[in-house]
Amino acid sequence: LLFLDSHIYHIFHFHASPILCKLKFKAECPILILVIITSFFLLPPLILSSPTHPSLVPCWEASEKLEYGARTIRGKITKLLPEFLSEIPLVDTHPHSASRTAKPVDWEEVLSCLEVERSVGEVDWAQPGSCGGMAMLESFIDQRLRLFATHRNNPNFDALSHLSPWIHAGQLSAQRVVKQVKREKNASESVLSFTEELVVRRELADNFCFYNHNYDNISGAYDWAKKTLQDHAKDCRQYLYTKEQLENAKTHDQLWNAAQRQLVLEGKMHGFLRMYWAKKILEWTASPEEALSIAIYLNDHLSLDGCDPNGYVGCMWSICGIHDQGWAERSIFGKIRYMNYAGCKRKFDVAQFERKYAAVKETSKKSV
Ligand SMILES: Cc1cc2nc3c(=O)[nH]c(=O)nc-3n(C[C@H](O)[C@H](O)[C@H](O)COP(=O)(O)OP(=O)(O)OC[C@H]3O[C@@H](n4cnc5c(N)ncnc54)[C@H](O)[C@@H]3O)c2cc1C
Repeated sequence: LLFLDSHIYHIFHFHASPILCKLKFKAECPILILVIITSFFLLPPLILSSPTHPSLVPCWEASEKLEYGARTIRGKITKLLPEFLSEIPLVDTHPHSASRTAKPVDWEEVLSCLEVERSVGEVDWAQPGSCGGMAMLESFIDQRLRLFATHRNNPNFDALSHLSPWIHAGQLSAQRVVKQVKREKNASESVLSFTEELVVRRELADNFCFYNHNYDNISGAYDWAKKTLQDHAKDCRQYLYTKEQLENAKTHDQLWNAAQRQLVLEGKMHGFLRMYWAKKILEWTASPEEALSIAIYLNDHLSLDGCDPNGYVGCMWSICGIHDQGWAERSIFGKIRYMNYAGCKRKFDVAQFERKYAAVKETSKKSV
């Protein structure tokens, strides 16, 4: 990912061999500031000394071991917050002027040599870059934050921050978001529940992916979860769908289809529905392994915030009970927490959400 920002001249986002790339760029480009944002869970530990890590508290500072759940990491994070929630320094003018003028960037050429998936269309609600992220943060604080505590689990309400794409891409730091949100004095309950998500839940996801090499497969689940999924692997499935049927929102469940269409059309599914969506994939595919791999594929392929520790942990929580406990045993799920359509109906107006996305169901991805 290469883009220009008002203060930082070039940002290179590498998924592999950042050290080699850094040396190469140092030799060839008159770079004034180089920021490397690492997707840390894809990289060897050596690279983790980068000072630009996107977590608020770097996960290796927060805890030196794999944590069991939010309750075991919350205290550790809270203790470290005063140190890491420091003031963000203003960007100074660089004291040295460049001796050479940089050649203008040929953006067309840059775009044409990127090896990226082009079948997924662009969205129009999210402006890339830190200015776009800051604008979304301001609109959250002005319009949606006060609804967060009470309405964040209602997909018909616009109560979420929508910040995950910018946070995931390193274009907006959790530190800046927390500091801005905490200035809001008239929504204390919402500020508390929002920081629980952005700080505690997010750090917990980082902790899982950092300390568990099997963060994206069933081997990474707790023993009780592996056993219960195995015990129920052969249970009869009333519905079985392929990856293609799921991707094209062709199931019998109109709520699930609407959520999938929201993901395809908007590049982001409502947080509450993400849990229902992934759990139904477990129910409607031949094995937990297949379910997890399809959920991760669809999430990473279609979500603007995909390929993120939060995504792997979200799928692992839904399908393998990570950071959760065992529940009453039932078919297919075993002791993994179950969610169903009737439960969603009790929480929000399911028909309203279905109607909203039924209206746009025939729109193809590319024309979004
Ligand atoms: C199956 C599944 C897949 C998911 N995939 C992703 C993903 O690919 N990328 C991603 O960032 N999140 C993912 N999540 C977690 C969560 O759903 C999203 O972070 C949230 O919906 C993003 O929207 P928002 O920024 O409007 O959230 P808000 O509710 O406004 O939350 C603000 C921020 O808090 C953090 N946050 C919120 N919920 C969680 C959570 N449960 N775990 C960890 N951090 C959280 C995120 O950084 C988010 O941007 C997934 C959850 C599930 C169940």
